[in-house]
Amino acid sequence: MEVLSLLLQKAASAPYKYHAHCAKQKIINVTFADDLFIFVHGDVVSVKKVKEALQTFTNISGLAPSPAKSTVFFCNVPQSIRQEIMDIMPFQEGVFPVRYLGVPLISSRLLFKDCQVLIDRMDKKIANWMTKSLSFAGRLQLINSVLSSMNIYWASVFIIPTRVIKELEKRIHRFLWNAGLEANAGFNLKSSVADVIDASGHWRWPQAWLDLFPVLISIQTPQLVGNAPDRLTWKDLDGNIVEFDSAQVWHTIRNRDNHAAWANMVWFSQCVPGHSFHMWLVFRNKLKTQDRLAVWEAGSATNLNLMCCPLCKHGRDSRDHLFFQCGFANQVWTNVKSMVNLESVDNTWQSLMQWVDQYSNSKKIDDIVCKLVVAATSYYVWQERNSRLFSSNQLTELQVADKIKNSVRLRLMGFKFQVDSARRGIFRIWKIDDNKDDVADPG
Ligand SMILES: [Zn+2]
Repeated sequence: MEVLSLLLQKAASAPYKYHAHCAKQKIINVTFADDLFIFVHGDVVSVKKVKEALQTFTNISGLAPSPAKSTVFFCNVPQSIRQEIMDIMPFQEGVFPVRYLGVPLISSRLLFKDCQVLIDRMDKKIANWMTKSLSFAGRLQLINSVLSSMNIYWASVFIIPTRVIKELEKRIHRFLWNAGLEANAGFNLKSSVADVIDASGHWRWPQAWLDLFPVLISIQTPQLVGNAPDRLTWKDLDGNIVEFDSAQVWHTIRNRDNHAAWANMVWFSQCVPGHSFHMWLVFRNKLKTQDRLAVWEAGSATNLNLMCCPLCKHGRDSRDHLFFQCGFANQVWTNVKSMVNLESVDNTWQSLMQWVDQYSNSKKIDDIVCKLVVAATSYYVWQERNSRLFSSNQLTELQVADKIKNSVRLRLMGFKFQVDSARRGIFRIWKIDDNKDDVADPG
């Protein structure tokens, strides 16, 4: 093919004339796979030159163009000259548009009628699929893999007219959503409830809809009110009709339970959210403590025997052990509870629960600080337990107690105190620098 290209280029000297749109780039021939396109101005002299080049190529290579498989296309060439050219090149005369690799070859821009074949092809494919009962996902898959690629293939060659794209999208849309069902049955987005009710006050659902959703029959027909617009409402648990919103729906469908006695111990406005979440797990006894893991690993006795509380190395840990019967946890607890009014709570879970029953609803600032201390202690003891279990890092009881105090201190610094004397008292106990008084009044 390179030889032929060279021969054609050699032939392209005056009086040879390039094809109208090829003169600037000096294009004579284009090859694609085993196809050859030759572009030449529609005059006898130029065609003769090309014919000579082809003849030379035939003499050199022995390859000759096959008249049966070759076609010549004319554009704006007078009939007499056409005939002369046909005598030189005895090929069949072709007429545009002609299909090449599935897309039309045309001499002007792509028109709607040129794309009719694409639309027809899509119609045929869809009609074929309609007979199969496909799920929504199946239809979507077909659209993505087959229908869209037909589209895209054409779009990679041409600028497809908008009208064609709209036609194609309409078909894809109808196929995806209706799958051959009676599509909208005369309804659209502007239809109102009144449109589905006949003059005698009965539903007039389309038969295809009733077949698919028999529940439609059992819906009570609403009482229509004059020209009032449609309104979305929601029937709540007590049967009241209320304004529809997502909060209402959530309240209706969620599972309701009684307030847990410890709810206010866990969730309160001054809480540290991370600690509160941990406390919630503790109260529900959902921490992955060894006694609970043991139930899961009933089959592998070896691992169970190796388990022991990483803090005190005595027996498996459990919620009650960690809060705060464990030797380590007890020491931490004893250290921090002296900061607040929790002396009455000893190292047992029951004793903590008794305090919860009595004080968790209290709004007194001292009791709120107690709740913060309990949550922080439980949180940091659990952290230390995990850090010993999963890494080599170890803190002493004092270090853990310091962490707890620091975290409570930080929280207290962000408190909004109603009474100034309460703030001063708390800050004194927790040794927080109370420099508010020292700031000179700028006014
Ligand atoms: Zn322990």
